[in-house]
Amino acid sequence: MKFVGAHVSSSGGVFNAPKNAIEIGAKAFALFTKNQRRWDAKALDTKTLDLWFKNLEESKVLPKHILPHDSYLINLGNHDVEKRQKSIDAFIFELERCEILGLDRLNFHPGSHLRKISEEACLDFIAESINISLDKTKNVKAVIENTAGQGSNLGYKFEHLAYIIDKIEDKSRVGVCIDTCHMFTAGYDIRTREAYDKTWKEFDEVVGADYLMGMHLNDSKPELGSRVDRHDSLGEGKIGWDAFEFIMNDSRMDDIPLVLETIDESIWGQEIESLYKLVH
Ligand SMILES: [Zn+2]
Ligand SMILES: [Zn+2]
Repeated sequence: MKFVGAHVSSSGGVFNAPKNAIEIGAKAFALFTKNQRRWDAKALDTKTLDLWFKNLEESKVLPKHILPHDSYLINLGNHDVEKRQKSIDAFIFELERCEILGLDRLNFHPGSHLRKISEEACLDFIAESINISLDKTKNVKAVIENTAGQGSNLGYKFEHLAYIIDKIEDKSRVGVCIDTCHMFTAGYDIRTREAYDKTWKEFDEVVGADYLMGMHLNDSKPELGSRVDRHDSLGEGKIGWDAFEFIMNDSRMDDIPLVLETIDESIWGQEIESLYKLVH
């Protein structure tokens, strides 16, 4: 069974996210548990937590179908030791926040080498940072997102994800989130049955289907392999509806959060409905 939703707003408080999710008919959702453009945040108080758990229960969305996203400021692969430590501290803070909210996974972008170090050195720093963070926290899984490879962002090749996972000491606490726009602009075609099967066969061989713990469903404004990260509404971009039909009928995507990050949030409800109609 598929659990589709969107990255909903938690403006006003995290407890608003489940409400925003049910309003668009979502069975899954993503959220920021704090302001994504700031390092710090107020601790979650009792009133906030009570409302969160109440609204979550009413939404009937299960924790495993919720994919919180970390702050954009965090770069676990920063070559600068002080800046990397700041990122690790912020990442631990986010993992702890997820745990307090009863969530079991945290989605993040692996990191950027900023043209200061090699890709391999950066991937080593990322893996080390994840190990440190997992060691200092409990239960919550670190879910690495593939990227478009824009700028110096790593994670645009399945091999990058596999390289990091290989170095994680506790493999029960690591997973991946595949963003269809990022996958496509990184050069992985999914537009035809043949291309889709080839790409996911490669994913299975390089990363492993068991590590898939969430997806971002986005169409793409830029072309295949352009390494540019610009989302589009489903069916409006260069990917097209067929790929989303394949996903909605692929058992690899059962029981994980499938989250829209498409550009027009006023049609998220329609997009969710359209996706469910594609299930054969
Ligand atoms: Zn994404
Ligand atoms: Zn993106």
